[in-house]
Amino acid sequence: MLTAAKFLVLAALLLALAWWIGGLPGDVTAHVGGYAITTNTPAALLLLFLIAVIFTVMLRVLGGISGTPGKIAAWRAAKRQAAGERAMRRGLVALAAGDAAAATAEARQVHKLLGDTPMAQMLRAEAAQLAGDTATAKSAFTALAQDKEMRFLGHRGLLRAALGRADLETAKRHAQDAEEAYPGGAWTRAQRLHLALKAQDYAAALGLTQDKNEIAALAVAAGQQAIAPRDALRYAQTALKAVPEFAPALALAAESLRRQDKTRTARKMLLNGWKEKPHPLIAAAWFAPDATPIERAQDAAALAAANPGHAESELVLAQTALAAGLVAEARRHAGLALHAGVDDGRAQAVLDTLDSKPPAPPRSAWVCGACHNSTQSWAALCPACGKPGGLRWHTPGTALV
Ligand SMILES: [Zn+2]
Repeated sequence: MLTAAKFLVLAALLLALAWWIGGLPGDVTAHVGGYAITTNTPAALLLLFLIAVIFTVMLRVLGGISGTPGKIAAWRAAKRQAAGERAMRRGLVALAAGDAAAATAEARQVHKLLGDTPMAQMLRAEAAQLAGDTATAKSAFTALAQDKEMRFLGHRGLLRAALGRADLETAKRHAQDAEEAYPGGAWTRAQRLHLALKAQDYAAALGLTQDKNEIAALAVAAGQQAIAPRDALRYAQTALKAVPEFAPALALAAESLRRQDKTRTARKMLLNGWKEKPHPLIAAAWFAPDATPIERAQDAAALAAANPGHAESELVLAQTALAAGLVAEARRHAGLALHAGVDDGRAQAVLDTLDSKPPAPPRSAWVCGACHNSTQSWAALCPACGKPGGLRWHTPGTALV
């Protein structure tokens, strides 16, 4: 509406102007050499206007022609950029497909088209890494580590390369640099955890996981490494907070309390654990290290009383009675253990020993949740696959659930 109104006003003004020019009196005479051209004033003004229009158009055309080389250069640069980006995409696909030769060729192409940009360096480094060209990979990743935005990728590549050649010290340095370049990254944390586990630095590893089972296992391992019993107890408490009644943690706590001459507290803690969830590790930690077999048999009764009738209680009574030479007691409790559901060969082993038969090895074991390897003694890391906190106590039958 407003546009239409503007158009009408403009048209009216132009019409008025043309009317006024058309009505101008007089002549205009131009002298060129010996010639004289005479015309009336409106025609002369129209001619002047046409000359101005032609002059403007000519200036535009000349300006366009003079700017052409710049435009051609910009067009060529854009074409180069597009070709470089296409090569980059092909290179990334080749990397993902594990085609080292194609990735290297595309990296060379990208470098030729786009120059030594951080993206070109990254593709070159990754392609070299894939091809096993460690020298090129190292120089490209080092260059990448100097770039403000790509610093993390540079240190990430150098860390992977260091891990590849088992250079743990260099790997640790790059892990720290990668953490600084990109704080809190999950990938870096996993690598730092891996490095701490490799170095058996369980206290450091403990701070790098959120998984409760891993925390419990690593805290026990750190406690076993701790020199001061107070520190060992602190780690045991960390483990018990993550996984309550965790038998290896209870055993560690009891041991560290004993080293601090707090035997009563240690025994109370083990009794509570036995009441909640009896386990052979708790039984092993229960007895005083210097106790005689007969003292152990007597002391077993105090432990078993915390969970009377439980298969593990009957079993510990049978085993300690056997060691103390209390044959009838050993046989009775082994029978009760079998009756209560211990079906992993431990109760049968007591009976076999009493009958002078070679006992079969027990079928209870710590089993890794990741690789299913089984082992008789607990460890923070699976001895087969190295997973922390993966071992679970597994016993056939219904004694322990
Ligand atoms: Zn495993």
